Amino acid sequence: MVVTKDLSRLGRNYVQSGLYIETYFPEHEVRFVAILDNIDTAYDTSNNDIAPFKSILNEMYAKDTSKKINSVLQSKRSLGQYLGTAPYGYKKDPQNKYHLIIDEEASNVVKLIYEKYLAGFGTMQIADYLSKNKIPIPSDYNKKKRGVKSINYGLWQQSTVRFILSNEIYTGTVIQGKRKKVSFKSKKFINLPEEDWIKVENMHEAIISKEDFERAKRIINATKGSRVVQNDYLFKGLLRCYDCKGYIGIRSADKNGNIYGRCQRYGRFGKFDVCSPHNFNYQVFEEQMLEVLRQICKKYTNRKKLQQIAKSTETEQSKEFNIKNQLQACKQSIESETKKLDLMYDDRLAGIISIDEYIKNANRIKELIKSYEENIKALEKELSGEKCKDDTDDKLDNLITEFLNMENPTKEIIREFIEKIEIHSDKQVDIYFNFKPLQEMDLNKFVCAKKKYENKIA
Ligand SMILES: [Zn+2]
Repeated sequence: MVVTKDLSRLGRNYVQSGLYIETYFPEHEVRFVAILDNIDTAYDTSNNDIAPFKSILNEMYAKDTSKKINSVLQSKRSLGQYLGTAPYGYKKDPQNKYHLIIDEEASNVVKLIYEKYLAGFGTMQIADYLSKNKIPIPSDYNKKKRGVKSINYGLWQQSTVRFILSNEIYTGTVIQGKRKKVSFKSKKFINLPEEDWIKVENMHEAIISKEDFERAKRIINATKGSRVVQNDYLFKGLLRCYDCKGYIGIRSADKNGNIYGRCQRYGRFGKFDVCSPHNFNYQVFEEQMLEVLRQICKKYTNRKKLQQIAKSTETEQSKEFNIKNQLQACKQSIESETKKLDLMYDDRLAGIISIDEYIKNANRIKELIKSYEENIKALEKELSGEKCKDDTDDKLDNLITEFLNMENPTKEIIREFIEKIEIHSDKQVDIYFNFKPLQEMDLNKFVCAKKKYENKIA
């Protein structure tokens, strides 16, 4: 027996409630009673016969209410009144529930995410950074705000970072009506095209400027298609083991999402005491590596500027003149030293000096001549190399400018710069550049710190 207060409680959908009353209940010998509508299927009364009409009326009533509610909501949306729950970074204004105000703590995280992203970090690096620094993920943050005490902090997902990076709400714009219900009877939603969205600008205080948001959007769109191979790491193929000179392999993420590099030869032959693990956290390494590269590039451009200032005081011609003078001096010195050697030989023949004395002095003079010859070689190289050196300089300058401007450095540009990177067993990292001026910078050695993710998966 099924008892309801009235017919509408059984269901507002006349197709379904009709099916129950007319087919399902009789077939399963279920008695149905709707008290206020005087319906009782145990008795054959005329009241039972009008049940289908009542169902239709109930449905029309529901449809009408839904329409009224919808039009109210729609007008609120078109005024830019915010109807949903407050997005991460904002909270509802206690004075006006349709207005958003900034949530200080979370908005700082939003700012940090944009800042890092626009500085060239990838969504994965940002997610890992937040996890490592124990920033609660939005759902945990909401729980904390609601006063839930014991929270297992989760790890940040790339998708969450991406969602925050593509949510226009942070520019102060309210966007609603992105989707609508198929019908008031259904719980299904369909997505609406962007031109149908209800977008109202400057409804609340912005966390991110419109310019920064647009920049982030451009990068997201630009990198969308390029992330085909997930295991294509930025420094893959460039990493070598310092001790055995073999490749460093990058292993896929473990259950905590950490990616480790390890000497491949050790991985294969370690059981025969070949090499040692050279284990390091690749994500930490990549982050630090890019930072070091940026530092080197910045230092290089700064030094270059200084050199140019120095150069402007010393003209090209006088530089060439200087080199030629030095060349001349070296050649003269060789000539005079050779003459000394001849004279000493004569002295030896005449018995003026002993054999020991002769050998000792002759060797000294020969060394001297050799060093002059080396000087000449270097000076000549400098003289002839002046022009072609400018070409590689230009190429390097362009590369550096491109790299420093790049939001997400590509594998290609990294490869232009770096010949190889060697990892020591104590995690010292040596960088070998394709460009001599970069190779000469200090900073080319750094230690990849071992950092552990202390967060547990919720
Ligand atoms: Zn090795």
